[in-house]
Amino acid sequence: MVEPLCKLSAIYSYESAQLKMSVITKKICLLGDFNVSKTSLIRRFIEDKFSDQYLSTVGVKVSRKSLDIRQNFEIQQINLLIWDLEGHTRFKSITPTYLKGASGSIIVGDLTRSSTLEGLKQHIDLSLHINPHGSIVVALNKADLVPQEKLDKLIELYRFNTCIQGINSYLTSAKTGEYVNNMFDELSKNLLHASSR
Ligand code: GDP
Ligand code: MG
Repeated sequence: MVEPLCKLSAIYSYESAQLKMSVITKKICLLGDFNVSKTSLIRRFIEDKFSDQYLSTVGVKVSRKSLDIRQNFEIQQINLLIWDLEGHTRFKSITPTYLKGASGSIIVGDLTRSSTLEGLKQHIDLSLHINPHGSIVVALNKADLVPQEKLDKLIELYRFNTCIQGINSYLTSAKTGEYVNNMFDELSKNLLHASSR
């Protein structure tokens, strides 16, 4: 016998209500040198847009996005509060205040400027110093400007997972969108995992 449509949709909404268990809010910060793409990565993630113009961030800007993350048989909603700080963050005295209370960080380097990649470790150390239990991912960005054979070498060089437990590096492009969502998704999963321990 065919089920009436209204009954089926009632069953479906009951099940999805059962699946959706909890909502959690987490602060995450982007860290990296000037001009590496911090603001552009956030814009790609939030609005799915990119601009070639330089987008100057004035002071600190906080953006918000909710994601539904499926873990085993549960869907958990995570509200990300994404903090963006203008200019050079490496030596800024404001950085510890900016990082305070963050559950995660995205450390950003520009694949076309090696000095920004050499600075990644310092940003990771600073982030871990302020939030020892925080989750971290690394965005090696502007991958659209670098040939594939060079990308293969760079990801080997800047793979922090081998020396620091659980830090994955992604070859991202805020311009094409490549790996941007994957990176935010992984960080969100790590945050949910950490908060359920
Ligand atoms: P921030 O100072 O770290 O916030 O850097 P921005 O997000 O303002 O980006 C600096 C410059 O790099 C801007 O001119 C962007 O258009 C450019 N840019 C950012 N991401 C990419 C990317 O993935 N590919 C390319 N080709 N350019 C990018
Ligand atoms: Mg910026």
